[in-house]
This record gives sequence, C-alpha cells and structure tokens, in this order.
Amino acid sequence: MAETSTGERHEFQAEVNRILDIVVNSLYSKREVFLRELISNASDACDKLRYEAQLDSALLKDDPALRITITPDAKKKTLTVSDNGIGMTHDELVENLGTIAGSGTAKFAEQLAEAEKDKAKKEKSDVSLIGQFGVGFYAAFMAADEVTVTSRRAGADEAWRWTSDGRTGFEIEPAEADTPRGTTITLKLKKDAKEFSEALRVETIIKTYSEHVALPVWLAGDGEARQINEAAALWTRQKSEISADQYTEFYRHVGHTFDEPWLTLHNRAEGVIAYTNLLFIPSSTPFDLFDPSRRHGVKLYVRKIFITDECEGLVPPWLRFLKGVVDSEDLPLNVSREVLQNNPVVAKISKALVKRVMNELKKKAEKDPEGYTTFWEAFGQVMKEGIYEDHERRDELLKLARFRSNAVDGWTSLDDYLGRMKDGQEQIYTLTGDKAETMKQSPMLEAFKAKDVEVLLLDEPVDEFWTMSADAFEEKPFVSVSRGDIDLSTIGGENASDEEKTDDEPSGDTAPLIAMLKLALEGEVKDVRESKRLTDSACCLVVDEGDMNMRLQKMLQATGQLGMQSERILEINPKHVLITSLSDIAKGDGATRDVEEMAHLLLDQALILEGELPKDPAAFARRLSDAMARAVG
Ligand code: ADP
Ligand code: MG
Repeated sequence: MAETSTGERHEFQAEVNRILDIVVNSLYSKREVFLRELISNASDACDKLRYEAQLDSALLKDDPALRITITPDAKKKTLTVSDNGIGMTHDELVENLGTIAGSGTAKFAEQLAEAEKDKAKKEKSDVSLIGQFGVGFYAAFMAADEVTVTSRRAGADEAWRWTSDGRTGFEIEPAEADTPRGTTITLKLKKDAKEFSEALRVETIIKTYSEHVALPVWLAGDGEARQINEAAALWTRQKSEISADQYTEFYRHVGHTFDEPWLTLHNRAEGVIAYTNLLFIPSSTPFDLFDPSRRHGVKLYVRKIFITDECEGLVPPWLRFLKGVVDSEDLPLNVSREVLQNNPVVAKISKALVKRVMNELKKKAEKDPEGYTTFWEAFGQVMKEGIYEDHERRDELLKLARFRSNAVDGWTSLDDYLGRMKDGQEQIYTLTGDKAETMKQSPMLEAFKAKDVEVLLLDEPVDEFWTMSADAFEEKPFVSVSRGDIDLSTIGGENASDEEKTDDEPSGDTAPLIAMLKLALEGEVKDVRESKRLTDSACCLVVDEGDMNMRLQKMLQATGQLGMQSERILEINPKHVLITSLSDIAKGDGATRDVEEMAHLLLDQALILEGELPKDPAAFARRLSDAMARAVG
C-alpha cells in the first residue's frame, strides 16, 4: 500500500472483503477473465460519457475519440487498462470500488451468502460461483498484488487516485493535475501472473473479450500501438458473420452475467420503423428478478449510440428477464430519457419485440418441449404476471403457460389439459396452494379423483392474481375446486357411476347436525353444508363463489393489505362415519355439549388441512385429548 500521508484510508465493506478473500485465494483456472471485466467496465464508461455528451457536448470536446487502451509492460510487470470515458469522482471511487455496487457483483455476493448458510456447499461454491457470475472490478485482484485506479470524471477539475492491495481497504489521494479524462487501472501483477504483462499473451486474450465491443481497443506497449478489434457494434453485423461464442460473449457483456443465453434473437426490421434487436433470454433466474426496483436489461441505442438502459416503455414488466440491445434508426439522438417515456416510436418497437419474443417462445415450445420447460421453470412466474397485466395478450400468454397437475408428472399446457377433459366436462378446474406435491393429497380433490377429472395445481403466489382476472381459456371457464358449489354430476368419465355420487343419501339426514354445527361455530364460519367434493375426508373449508380465495386472503393479510378474512364455509361429508355418527347423536336429546366440542374439532382439523393453525391451539389440544381419552377409556 502506498505510504503517502496525503492519502485517506477507507475500509472495504464486509461483503467486498469476503469477495476479495475468495478472489485472492482461489486458484481460478481461467483467471484471465479479469480482463473481460475491466474491458467491460471501460466500455460502459465510454457509453455513459457518450450519452451525457448528447446533452452537454463540452464533456467530450477535448478528446472526442472514445477508446480503450491496454498496455502490458513486461519490464515493470504491470498491465494497464485505460479508457477516456466518464471517469469517477472522489465519492464515486469510494462508492463504486469499496462497496458492492455492480449488478454482477451483487449477484455473486448474494449467492455467497446463500452458500454461507450451508457449510458443506460453501467450499465448492466459492470458486465455481466466480465462473458463473463474475466479480466485476474486484476480479483484478486475481492477477494483481496491488491495483491503482486513477480517474478524472468528465468535466471535473480534480483527479483522484485509488490504491489497494485487495486485503483490508484502499487509500485515496489527489492525482496529478494533468491526469486525462477517464480511468486508468494499473495492475501490479502477482509473481505467478506475469503472463499478463506479455504483449502476445494479452493480445490473444483481449481478442476474445473485445471482439464484440463497439469501441476501438488498442494494444500499446512494445512498438507501435494498434487497434486489435473491429470496433463495430456486434448487432450491426450479419448473423452469418457472428459466431456462437461471439454472441455469448456479447450477452455476458451487456447482461452483466456469466451464464449461457437460453435464446438469442437477432433481427433487423426495415419497415415503417427501422431498428435492430439483439435480445437474449438467460438460462438461469437472476437473483433480483422479483426485486420491485428491478428493471429489464435491454439497452436502447440510437444509430449505434447508447442512449439508456432505463427505457421502461421498451419492454413490458413481465418480460423483464430479457437482456440485450435495441438500436433504433428513427429516434433523434438527443432524445432525453423523460421524452422516451411516452414515445410512439418506442411503443411501436416494443409491440413488435413482444410479438417476436412470443412467437419464438411458441416455436421453442413446439420444437423442444423439454427445453421449453427449463425456460418456464426459470421465468414462468414472471410471464404469469402478464396474464393479468396485459389483457391484450392474455390468451397467447395462457397458451405459452405451463402448469402442474394431478394427472401428469411434469408440466402441462392448457391445450393438453383440454385434450384430456372428460365427456361432459365444461370447466378447467384449479386448486391453489403452496406446493404441488402436497396439494395432490388435498381433500378438495377427492371427488375429482373419484371421477378421474384433472385439476391444475397452482402453487405460485402469482397464481392467485391471474386466476382472478382470467376467467376462461378457449371458452372453458377456470373454476377453483375450493370455491362455491362443485357439481360433477354431469361429467361422465369411465369412472362415472351415477348411483354412487348423485343425491342418493337423503340430505335431510344431516339437517339436525348441520343446524347444531352452525350454532356452535357461529361467527367462525359463514355456513355449514353438505359437501359434494369429499369422498374420504370428513370435512373441509371452502369459500363462496364471489369471495376471495383463502390463500390470497392469507397472503394479503401477511403483507398488511387485508385486515379481516372473509368468512369460510365448512363442508361436511355426509357419508363419512364420523359425520353419520354425529348425525345420529344430533338427532337424540341432550347431546348438544358433545356436538359442540366436536364442531370445534372439525373446524380445527379443516384449518390444519389448509396449512393453518387452529384458532385456539390450547383449546384444540384439550378437546383432542378428551376425545382420545374417551376413545381408549
Ligand atoms: P458492474 O460493472 O457490474 O457495475 P463492477 O464491479 O465491474 O460492477 O464495477 C463497479 C462500478 O465501478 C461500476 O458500476 C462503475 O460505476 C464503476 N467503474 C468501474 N470501472 C469503471 C471505469 N473504467 N470507469 C468508470 N467507472 C467505472
Ligand atoms: Mg463490470
């Protein structure tokens, strides 16, 4: 560490220390990836400056040709990466290079924290995670004992120098007054990393990592400096001239990610509006997919000039997992981010993009159903948001959606569900819950199982929302099996046996019991009635046709959006021995007290089946013990 006394000392944030610890100590076999990170940051910095210069051209004036220069120095055993981009102020150096600021790095830290909880996983994860997510700027310490970052923010009078050995913290001091605009990063290479000071080796590496970069990348050092990439924006080239590796590198560059793209969409539109899109769907779920502040990862360019990565109208929220670039020919270059909010050109591009993505997904689903489910597992939850947010595309989205069901092991589409419907079945039955596997045992499904009628098992929170707004698919209404009256008597599958299910038992039989249960449970349930959906269990809880689903009630209560639950209905199975015995007792005299106790036990049992606690656990335990004592006594 520099021993200057002018420097101020800063500690790294704890998460950064943890990352550095791993970076420094891991024998990462492909450690040259640190160069990808540095080139990527330099290129982002130039993009940012180009955008700011649209509004304030003075920023660019003194040195308008943006570029990245890489200088290996075998004698000094250093490697320098410099750019004449936006640069960093004193505070930005502290913030960006001392805390977890970067998106890619944040992901890494998140995964580390996860792995931390599981000690066994920890050892292995550290190293493999670097390969998966990258660690951004901090990767420099894979190759360097000491890193110096000298930077002048565009338009600023002062320049600053940041120095760190990557162990405990960093030091910041003022840099020379003639420091040029942008950022220069110098790595004092480790003993075993001298290869990165050799021109030939470095050239080989940066060819891979800079081929897709839209800026000139220069290699300086021995002899004359020369440009070693084409510096043409990748998306402007012909598809046939781009290799799969180049697409992948570009995806990682724009997406700040390290996985493989699951889908690559590269198109040029030349109609009323002209644009090029190079979009990717990642192969894994980003950690912040459900972070409310998360935006999509599509950058907007205008004629190859970066404008913004915050153009909300470009991609609907339910496609926020998309990454890549859209380059428009029609927007003005000096368009401000505010103006973009309601821009008709952006709206048209967006519409076309969504259509393109959906078509492509449809094709994938047809050609490679297996592969499609991996996409659905990663992003289905987000796509389902579109079902209730995007009315225009609801039907198409429902076609793309996949569901769990009690009839198949993997996933099913709605079209396939329709194909399996029984004669006389007019509705699509659904059950919402927390886990498809346990839902298969739900008493709500008993009558359906008896008739071999398929029920979709909706086990994601988002299901509660789309099922409220989407009422039908191909004119077959969605019907929740836990709601209202369920009547399966018109359905005649192979297992349909009319004598078994339809009104054989005189309902009047349970009337006295029902009257007593209602009295005992007054204020706790809205109604008590005979069930048509139970065959094996004694009772269950349902909601009325127009009432809110129980699970949704629970969810809204948990987030404080709903004060009181609307009341539920207790259904009893008239053929269950417990109910028939209780019925007999209810018909006699003086049994009120017994039935009252049992009423509460029935309700508590139904609550437990819903995954809830009995209202009064102590009373429940006492009643249960009493009942057990009587049974063994
Ligand atoms: P990420 O690139 O994912 O944001 P990094 O760890 O690579 O994360 O970089 C952290 C931050 O440091 C960047 O977001 C950027 O603000 C800043 N930074 C890094 N390198 C440069 C550079 N060459 N010029 C300007 N800012 C930079
Ligand atoms: Mg970066």
